[in-house]
Amino acid sequence: MNVKRSQALYEAASRVIPGGVNSPVRAFRSVGGTPLFIARGEGSRIFDADGHEFIDYVGSWGPLIFGHAFPPVVAAIERAARMGTSFGASTALEIELAELIVEAMPSVEQVRFVNSGTEACMSALRLARAFTRRDKIVKCSGCYHGHADSMLVSAGSGALTLGVPDSPGVPAAVAADTIVVPYNHPIALEKAFDDAEDIAAVIVEPVAGNMGVVAPLPGFLGAARDLTTRHGALLIFDEVMTGFRVGYGGAQARYDIQPDLTCLGKIIGGGLPVGAFGGRADIMQHLAPAGDVYQAGTLSGNPLAMSAGIAQLRALKGSDVYDRLESSGVALEAGLTRTLSERGVAARIARVGSMWTLFFTRDPVVDLDSAKLSDTAAYARFFHAMLERGIYLPPSQFEAAFISLAHSKADIEQTVAAARESLDAAAA
Ligand SMILES: *Cc1c(COP(=O)(O)O)cnc(C)c1O
Repeated sequence: MNVKRSQALYEAASRVIPGGVNSPVRAFRSVGGTPLFIARGEGSRIFDADGHEFIDYVGSWGPLIFGHAFPPVVAAIERAARMGTSFGASTALEIELAELIVEAMPSVEQVRFVNSGTEACMSALRLARAFTRRDKIVKCSGCYHGHADSMLVSAGSGALTLGVPDSPGVPAAVAADTIVVPYNHPIALEKAFDDAEDIAAVIVEPVAGNMGVVAPLPGFLGAARDLTTRHGALLIFDEVMTGFRVGYGGAQARYDIQPDLTCLGKIIGGGLPVGAFGGRADIMQHLAPAGDVYQAGTLSGNPLAMSAGIAQLRALKGSDVYDRLESSGVALEAGLTRTLSERGVAARIARVGSMWTLFFTRDPVVDLDSAKLSDTAAYARFFHAMLERGIYLPPSQFEAAFISLAHSKADIEQTVAAARESLDAAAA
C-alpha cells in the first residue's frame, strides 16, 4: 500500500508534535508501520491522505455510533456555529442534553458537563472523595479512566500498549491512594475493603473496553455494588465508552446495577469533545456552586458540542438501533468464529453488542492477565493484512473495535471475507 502522503505528514507532524500524534495509540507503535492520516469520513468509511478507502471499525474510538459525518449531527453543528461558538455563559442546549441523559439513566439525577472522559473521571473521583471524606480509590487493572495522575496506575489502552503501566511524572504519593485489583474478581475486591478502611470509591468500566473488550462475569458488578454499599463507599461506573453504546441506558441498564456516580463521554458528544459525570442528586449537590467541591471549565457545555450530542441522542432514543447493532455484531461474530475454526487459528472474538475484540489467544479473556496472553505479533500481522484489504481496525490488540449503524450487511460480509485471507497471513 502506497502511503507516501501519510508518511510525509507523519514526518512533518513529528517535527512539531511529540511522536507526531496527539494521543499515543494513533502512532501505530504496537503494530508498526506508518500511521495513516485521515482526510475524511462518510458513513462506515474513512479515506486516508493517499486516497485509500477503508471500512472503519475505530469510529473515533467509540463516539460515532451512526458512522462518520452523520447528517443530523453535521446539521446541528452548523446551526449552532452560526449562532456563536461559545459564550462562557449558560445556554438552553445544556439543559436539553442533561435531560436526555437523566431520562436515559435512572441512577443519574443530575449531571455536570466537562470536555473529555478524563475530566469526567477525575472530577467524579474528587467528588467521591469529598463526599465520603476518604482518600483511597479502588480501580481494576486494565481499566482506563483517563490520564489523571491517580488513574495512571495499571491503566489499559495507550499505557498498556506502550508497556508503561505507570507513567513517570505521577507522584508516588498520588499513586499510593489508588488500590488496583484484577477485573472480574469479587474476592480481590472484598479483600481490598478488608485491608483498607478509607476507601472512597470503586471505579470500574462495567464492560471493560480498554484492554480489548472484556465482559463482566456474572456477579462481578453486583459484588462491587454490594461491597461499596456495605462499606459506605461509592460505586462509580465509568461509562465513557459503554454509555449509549451497549444500550440506550448504558451498561447499568444492560446489567441492571445502579451506580452512585456515572462518567460519560464519547457518544454523548456526537464526535465533539464532551464528557460528563452525574449521579445521585445528594452527591452532585456538593459540587460548586451548589456545594464546595470545586470543578469548572471555560468551554464546558459548549453549544456546538451540546448540539452534536443532542442530535445523536435524539436519533438513538426510542428506535430499534440497538437491535440493529446487535444483529450486525452477531453476524460479524458468527462470520469470524466460523473462519477461526475453519483455519484453526488460536484466536477468539469477545463481543458485547457493537463493541468487539479479536484476541489472539485460545483461552477466555476475563482480566488483564489473560488479555496479556494474546499474541500481539499475530495481531499486528492481522491488522496490516486487514488494512491492505481495506479494513481499518484498532492499531492495538488491547483496544475495542466498534460497529456503527452505518455498517451495512455488505460491509460486515466484506470484513469477514477480508478476515479469512488475513488470518492466513497472521498465522504465517
Ligand atoms: C475513552 C475513555 C476515557 C477517557 O476519555 P477521553 O475523552 O479520552 O479523555 C475514560 N474512560 C473510559 C472507559 C474510556 O473509554
